[in-house]
Amino acid sequence: MVELDAAWRAANPLPQPQGEATKNTRGRVLCVGGARRVPGALRLTAEAALRVGAGKARMVTVPSVALMLGALFPETAVIAVGEDEAGEIALEPAEPLFREVDRTDALVIGPGMIDRQAAGRLVVRVAAEPREKVALLLDAAACAAAGALADELRGYAGRLVLTPHGGEMAELCDCDAADISADPEGKALDVARRYGAVVALKGARTWIAAPDGRVLRYAGGGIGLATGGSGDVLAGVVGGLLARGLPPFEATGWGVWLHGEAGRALAASVGPVGFLAGELLPELPKLLPR
Ligand code: AMP
Ligand code: MG
Repeated sequence: MVELDAAWRAANPLPQPQGEATKNTRGRVLCVGGARRVPGALRLTAEAALRVGAGKARMVTVPSVALMLGALFPETAVIAVGEDEAGEIALEPAEPLFREVDRTDALVIGPGMIDRQAAGRLVVRVAAEPREKVALLLDAAACAAAGALADELRGYAGRLVLTPHGGEMAELCDCDAADISADPEGKALDVARRYGAVVALKGARTWIAAPDGRVLRYAGGGIGLATGGSGDVLAGVVGGLLARGLPPFEATGWGVWLHGEAGRALAASVGPVGFLAGELLPELPKLLPR
């Protein structure tokens, strides 16, 4: 286990985009999620991706949310897919989604989704047609629902990131939360190996494990990060860095650090609690190496 500290960051520098890059070559992120009950989470994710320097973010969500989301966030495009009676994504026909997947570098699925079954169906459908050059991040319900889907997700091994909090990790591992807290590092490594994924097991301490046995630990964020939408921001930060071409382990390490450091900056200026997850967003670009 290695601490995610200044020495790790110095050894794994975050590259700067070059002057010739366009918004397409700076990294395209496709964020899939949201539901009628959680219409705005996807905006946090998509904005976070742009705030860490990705060139383009698009959002795929349910029709009852799409127009509102697009008006709320004019820097992105919004694509509406099917919606079930509960207001969750019902994918078929999947063609509109895959058209967007073919034009992205990183795909983030799950922010704002609640229903495990709806999320599971979406993950299975996406995993059935893996795209060779696309990195996939599963968060929230999509991450929890991946518990039974290690085989289905094989096509994304090596390009997969999972970002569960403790409860989602227990679902992913089909075990009790107490088993996770008894051995977070071991459990994160187990899942990383089983899926060929980088796993960020989030909490007051975050453990980042890779299939090759590397583990990073980060404990710097602060209690204010335990707030609604905080994980949606993290998913977008990591998704944005994946789209910029960072390998999954480095993207996740830098993402966890940037998210935590943004929390520390707000704690210093606002106070230890009471800032909003959305307020992390404008802090992010200030933390990128110049
Ligand atoms: P989520 O539960 O998906 O919204 O994610 C919450 C985010 O906040 C994760 O990145 C956690 O690591 C972070 N977090 C939650 N609780 C704490 C805490 N007590 N101290 C520091 N970071 C936390
Ligand atoms: Mg979450």
